[in-house]
Amino acid sequence: MKYCPECAGSFADEMVHGKLRAVCKACGFVFYQGPKLAAGVLIEDKGRVLLHRRDVGPREGTWTFPSGYVDLGESPAEAALREAREETALEVVLDQLVGVYNNPSHSVSLVMYAAHLTENASPSSDNDRVALFPLESLPELSFEHDRQILEDWRRQAAAGKTVN
Ligand SMILES: [Zn+2]
Repeated sequence: MKYCPECAGSFADEMVHGKLRAVCKACGFVFYQGPKLAAGVLIEDKGRVLLHRRDVGPREGTWTFPSGYVDLGESPAEAALREAREETALEVVLDQLVGVYNNPSHSVSLVMYAAHLTENASPSSDNDRVALFPLESLPELSFEHDRQILEDWRRQAAAGKTVN
């Protein structure tokens, strides 16, 4: 960011709360840089989990949970539902929060929800990028935190927290 979003003044680096941050020289606005917020869904259906195959970017060809960035003006839950719809073409119902996960550099925080498919919904056989996998035979997962998400979810389910 080059100019202050409040007054279009110019920034200078100053120590604020223990870190060098861009501070507007005209109005004192402090530009706090934070992680990007993402949301995703762990969709369970009859003991299987729905995964999405990455067809671009890092870890192409591996499988992960449908997820994406939260847009401004959207709640994490709304973003999770939208991403599920966009990436799987399926309608889902959110159940509960599984947890919040960070990528290794902490530049992204991912809010994960457990979800289930609406009645009669099932992945289309002509979409080979979406599939339901039994828990005991999962494909290669994309990210380190995917395993953690599954573990946390299974622990919650065992503790009786899953509502579906
Ligand atoms: Zn300013």
